[in-house]
Amino acid sequence: MDLLRETNRGRSVSLRGCVYCLLLILVLCANLGMSGRPPIEEGGRLQVVTSIPDLANFTMRIGGDLVDVQSLAKGLEDPHGVPIKPSFLPKLNQADVLVVMGLQNEHAWLRALIDVARNPRILPGNPGYIDSSVKVSPKQIPQVLSRRDGDLHPLGNPHFNLDPVNAKLMAGAIAEGLERVYPSGKGIFQENLKEFENEIDAQLTVWLKLAAPLKGLSFISYHQDTIYFAERFGLKEAGHIEIRPGVEPTQRHLVELVEKMKREHIQLVLREPYFSEQLPNWVAEETGARVAKFLIMVGGAPGVQTYEDLITFNLESLLAAVQSRNDQSND
Ligand SMILES: [Zn+2]
Repeated sequence: MDLLRETNRGRSVSLRGCVYCLLLILVLCANLGMSGRPPIEEGGRLQVVTSIPDLANFTMRIGGDLVDVQSLAKGLEDPHGVPIKPSFLPKLNQADVLVVMGLQNEHAWLRALIDVARNPRILPGNPGYIDSSVKVSPKQIPQVLSRRDGDLHPLGNPHFNLDPVNAKLMAGAIAEGLERVYPSGKGIFQENLKEFENEIDAQLTVWLKLAAPLKGLSFISYHQDTIYFAERFGLKEAGHIEIRPGVEPTQRHLVELVEKMKREHIQLVLREPYFSEQLPNWVAEETGARVAKFLIMVGGAPGVQTYEDLITFNLESLLAAVQSRNDQSND
């Protein structure tokens, strides 16, 4: 199948990219000294690095004037396989704090960088390492805990940021982490956390009303990254183009998926923008379904700059796809 040949070619290119990344890390490490930043002073600004843009958005809102924040990943990249840039190691070397999603979301690209960044403050287990997943209840935990065959979600589904209720828990973990390294900022972090929680609560009421026409709707997506969003807004995750997270489909898997969609009248395909359009479009053509763009991180489309933008974009994208399907049925 030509479509699968295209997909596999993409994967071999990215594997070659990984080898180049490892060589790059080795070259950069040779010039990296032990992090020499002194402990943060009263009134100083914490230098924070986050793995993904959502965490940067949360940390800026919780840390306020006491933090400078930058995200390593951009919103259009694969959060499990962010291309390593020469700028990453100096940023990690100089950071007071590193905020990660956790559940091994970033394992494939960030873990080795942390180990060689020569900055003990941000090593896992130390105060400057903030794992945003610590208060979240993971869903879809595999029965066999193994990375065999490329499973990218060994500790459960790490795309919990797509449920706004989890966003509050993540912000809570970030506030606690910032307090560990900057105890005198506790009052500010707690005040900002309360404000953040209130903003999300108010917006959640609006989002739930907006999502009402989607209730009960079944869909498929490319990657297994929709369960938290789906359960919050009453949709049903019915299948995936990937066989398992990180495992590309076979022809047999795609045929079975199309048969299931026809049998169960599944009319919606969610496409995450870091995957090629080819397979989602092919599945939609075979089944008469509509394709909706589904962002998994802040920054995944122009104008999506905050967490609120992200959730609103996804709901409106799904609503537009459903509306377009209904309009066609009524013609
Ligand atoms: Zn994933």
